[in-house]
Amino acid sequence: MRRNSVIWMILVGCMAALIAQVALAANVKVTPLGGQDGEFCPQDRALIFEDPNGTRILYDAGRTVAGPNDPRLGKIDIILVSHMHGDHVGNAHNKEPNSGSCANPDVSVSALPNSNTANIALAKKAKIVTGSEMPPFFAGKLKANGGDPRDSILARLGGSVKVGGVTIATVTALHSNGLDPDYIGGELGKSMKDAGIAGYVGEATGYVLTFSNGLVVYLSGDTGITSEQDTVVRGHYKAKLAVLNIGDTFTTGPMEAAYVINNLVQPASVIPSHANEVATKGGKVLPGTKTETFTNAVKVPVHVPLSGKMMEFDSNGKCVAGC
Ligand SMILES: [Zn+2]
Repeated sequence: MRRNSVIWMILVGCMAALIAQVALAANVKVTPLGGQDGEFCPQDRALIFEDPNGTRILYDAGRTVAGPNDPRLGKIDIILVSHMHGDHVGNAHNKEPNSGSCANPDVSVSALPNSNTANIALAKKAKIVTGSEMPPFFAGKLKANGGDPRDSILARLGGSVKVGGVTIATVTALHSNGLDPDYIGGELGKSMKDAGIAGYVGEATGYVLTFSNGLVVYLSGDTGITSEQDTVVRGHYKAKLAVLNIGDTFTTGPMEAAYVINNLVQPASVIPSHANEVATKGGKVLPGTKTETFTNAVKVPVHVPLSGKMMEFDSNGKCVAGC
């Protein structure tokens, strides 16, 4: 009897070690949901992250996810919104994937006053995790449309929440975050629109995600250069994969973004985002683009987000498939 229980304990120990090894070996899958299959286009922001445990996270749905019925979405457990500007929360969207062209996408479907984000969350019964003062806005939209307001979850700067096995923290983004009066509507919305003012929903944010295989990912949102990219994102969280805006005018341009990667965040690899240009043709980066300038200036591997092309990253932020 005693010998049996010893053998049993050894067996259980071996199984636990094996399971731990499988979890470590497992990769995080990243799939861009852009405007045109196989390309990196001006409106592209949306990415799906899939944890090895199956949890699927949609980051900044924007205008290139064709509403809740976009067949590329599949199961969505969590939606992240860096800030409330229309190209991130989705004030409008394409009719279907590949509507229009890369340079001139057809984003003629209005998502007002709900937002593409709220519509997708309602259809998928997904949680929306945001920082700042944004959760009450989404809770209101969910409630007004028959959803559960408790599905809008707060992760304010400095704290974190764990949802579906993924730890989600928000970090500083140097940007603005006005809520367009079109989401408010009625007399108040009209008065605000006439006065040219936006609603207050707190600071714009970025995110740091820690997946179940240990991979730490920095999602910049829209931001300029911040000292927190050094002290918090690298210093505290030690992000190994970064998704960074490079588009200039509204955010860091390609050279500022390269400085952020080389000197501040120092990840193992980077996915450029928010380029606001036709960056590729036939999946190849076009000469003279901001994406090319950024790629040439960065010292770590740059993985251009080609719509629909899944990439896999290991726990160290190295792309191991699809790049
Ligand atoms: Zn913005």
